[in-house]
Amino acid sequence: MDSPLLTRPCWAEIDLAALAHNLRLLRRVAGSAALAAVVKGDAYGHSLALCAPAARRAGADWLAVTSVDEARAAATGDPVSDSRILVLSGPFSGDGESVARHGFACSVWQRNQLEEIQRGAQAAGRDALPVPLELDTGMSRQGVAPAELDSFLHSLRSFPALRVEGVMTHLYAADEGDRAATVQQLERLAGALRVIVEHLRAAGQPAPLWLSVGNSAAIFDAAVRDRLAALAASHTMRLLLRPGIALYGVAPRIEPPLPAPTEAAGLRPVLAWKTRITSLRSIPAGAAIGYNATFRAAEPMRLALIAAGYADGLSRRLSNVGHALVAGHRAPFVGRVSMDQAVVDVSQIPAVSLAPGAEVVLLGSQGGQRVTADDHAQWAGTIPWEIFTSIASRVPRIAVD
Ligand SMILES: *Cc1c(COP(=O)(O)O)cnc(C)c1O
Repeated sequence: MDSPLLTRPCWAEIDLAALAHNLRLLRRVAGSAALAAVVKGDAYGHSLALCAPAARRAGADWLAVTSVDEARAAATGDPVSDSRILVLSGPFSGDGESVARHGFACSVWQRNQLEEIQRGAQAAGRDALPVPLELDTGMSRQGVAPAELDSFLHSLRSFPALRVEGVMTHLYAADEGDRAATVQQLERLAGALRVIVEHLRAAGQPAPLWLSVGNSAAIFDAAVRDRLAALAASHTMRLLLRPGIALYGVAPRIEPPLPAPTEAAGLRPVLAWKTRITSLRSIPAGAAIGYNATFRAAEPMRLALIAAGYADGLSRRLSNVGHALVAGHRAPFVGRVSMDQAVVDVSQIPAVSLAPGAEVVLLGSQGGQRVTADDHAQWAGTIPWEIFTSIASRVPRIAVD
């Protein structure tokens, strides 16, 4: 981010070479399937403006976003690209015309969405506008339920401007190594695909071109990946996989773990979150640290104040939990994390490397040490997705490669 006026030292470095590496690794794993780089949520907090063009340059066939608002943002600045944009959460009221004019592939599963897109197609003078049909194969979040599929397909006939271009669903437990939920979802998907293909044939319409299913966890599970590929091939559809977290360098955690290690071990973290030491102080035994004295020194300590707090997205749950890196050593958080500041214990770190202005790593590596989004997630009781997307917008994202 180009923000020369910002001097407060709390920033995130976005390694676009690592992003490109991860995409190439995913491409190898995906085989002949196409890839939609998931860049919703401001590219998982990594900056859509930086990551969308980088993902395209690295060969993403599609970009996937959550809304038409995000799709427009992803479409700017790259008019020459032939990668397409997939909108995952359906059209909202007023989105139809953008969908039609830009040719966004916006998933649909209910009548008001069909009406919205049909209106947009008419306003834009488009006929045969391609739309992906979303199926609910067990998550109960969005999509046409199996029991309603027939009547939904019939209702499509009153929307002559729309063509079913692809079919989508979402696996809700691809990180569960026993695969029981996923196998059931794939059976429902297989049944629904037969109904859709048969219905379109009877209506004299072309068969759907692609089948989009498979998040990061599914992609790295060869058994699931192979079943998805076979399912798509059985209807001569192209499989379109949708990696998100893996693109940003986090290997999905599969529980119980798969028997063999996966290619996910080769992913590289894209984001490093850094700050600097503001000041240093020594405190005597018995001194309190931070709000409500949740930490009291048992012996004399050396403390460093850092310029990052919960308003930057450093979870308040890291109070007295976890550590940052200072001079290549672990520096535990002590006392409560404040809004704009936190305190770390640097008693064990050689004094020569401690000074105001010294770099502190919140997420990333320094010396031989590394702090990952998984570490933060465990300390804060959440998942890496939320760690990344919680990093506040006031923290500038700076491209490095
Ligand atoms: C977010 C999302 C993905 C990507 O999931 P990851 O686990 O981050 O790879 C894929 N598909 C849909 C529908 C999503 O919402």
